[in-house]
Amino acid sequence: MKKSEIERLSKKLTSQRRLVWDAIDQREKKRVFSFDREYQGFLNTAKTEREAVKLIEETALKNGFSSNPPSKQPIKMMRTFQEKSIALSISGRKPLGEGINLVVSHLDSPRLDLKQNPLYEEVDLAFMKTHYYGGIKKFQWLTRPLAIHGRIIRSDSTTLDIIVGEDDSDPVFSVADILPHLARKVQYDKKVSDAFVAEKLNLMVGSLPFGDKDTKERFKLAILSFLNEKFGLVEEDFISAELEVVPAGTARDVGWDRGLTGGYGQDDRACAFSSLKAILDIKNPQRTALVLFFDKEEIGSDGATGAKSRFLESILADLMVAHGKDPLYHEIHNVLMNSRALSGDVNGGLDPDFQDVHEKRNAAQLGYGLCLTKFTGSGGKYGANDANAEYVGWIRNLFNKKGVVWQTGELGKVDEGGGGTVARFLAPYGMQVIDCGPPVLSMHSPFEIAHKGDIYMTYKGFRAFLES
Ligand code: MN
Ligand code: MN
Repeated sequence: MKKSEIERLSKKLTSQRRLVWDAIDQREKKRVFSFDREYQGFLNTAKTEREAVKLIEETALKNGFSSNPPSKQPIKMMRTFQEKSIALSISGRKPLGEGINLVVSHLDSPRLDLKQNPLYEEVDLAFMKTHYYGGIKKFQWLTRPLAIHGRIIRSDSTTLDIIVGEDDSDPVFSVADILPHLARKVQYDKKVSDAFVAEKLNLMVGSLPFGDKDTKERFKLAILSFLNEKFGLVEEDFISAELEVVPAGTARDVGWDRGLTGGYGQDDRACAFSSLKAILDIKNPQRTALVLFFDKEEIGSDGATGAKSRFLESILADLMVAHGKDPLYHEIHNVLMNSRALSGDVNGGLDPDFQDVHEKRNAAQLGYGLCLTKFTGSGGKYGANDANAEYVGWIRNLFNKKGVVWQTGELGKVDEGGGGTVARFLAPYGMQVIDCGPPVLSMHSPFEIAHKGDIYMTYKGFRAFLES
């Protein structure tokens, strides 16, 4: 065989993933960057699930979605739930009974929550106690500027939303760490998992006293007095508050060539933003398209606004009514059983410094596009949804046909660890579902890193899926 013949055969027979940058032309490369600018804007404005819901709702309203849509086709429906989860749908040309296409992502990200009795003073400084939310590496949250975002219900039942620490003129907050000179016994000699203690994640919030030497707890009182003057708050108001401590500052381009995006909360706002853009850009889909944004994924999807809730069934009932059908239980479940879903979530990209925890042939790599993950879970696929061959076949052919650059990846070597997504809460409805999203580095850290080409392909993949 001639060398060229062998090369031709090798190209035809071997499966090779493609770098997004090798697969797209100049025009699309430009689109990657303009898409990313919008994405970074989303990351900066939507740092909590409430802020994300608000932004998605405003964007959807501007684009003709409504909670009470007119019955002319296509019906563009929107529903929010407790201001923490939201659904957008566009009715399709085919009957609902044939099933819908849905992309599901989550809006919550790992962070520190303020406790319900947060405020105290110690060695003449004021602090707030925190409780970490989701799977964080605690040391990553020390010695950095932090912002407080959230909602407080005051004693007179009025609502106060605050964001402090994002504007350049705002103060920030911080969790201090022990100096290296004295860290030997309390940190260096310990296992990392023991060296950083949750109850030491205390947020520094003040340093100036109130009253005089005889005033009791004058540093705590100083903060209470400030909060009362500025917001009309009293200490008990913290009990009815959800205050989230997140990294202060904006998302940034990473690298000389600006090919990467670094920022907080890309798990899972990369998929939330991409699926939002996808549904805004589709016009008249074959099947009804639904994009769902859940809360609580990082703590197991429990709670009324998480993926284990009945929100999806309730939306289906609304869709049936909007289509002039009775929302009968078995009809709703028939629709769900005939449906196709993408569980949009990030995957751990092959880490250049920890390649040993991955099995390279089956790890997602930054820059190679949207990653399909057939199963998550741990051990012997425990807790996995494990998409079937038929569905993987359908989706791979769709992506190939639509010019979506994609790859496959599993979450680390077998028996190395593992994790789960919302896929396993969609699968019980009998629908086809697969995990799908960009690979990221430094997942769950205050500064996650993703490849701009992968984020763009996530959008392109979601759009192709919703249109099909
Ligand atoms: Mn996630
Ligand atoms: Mn996560």
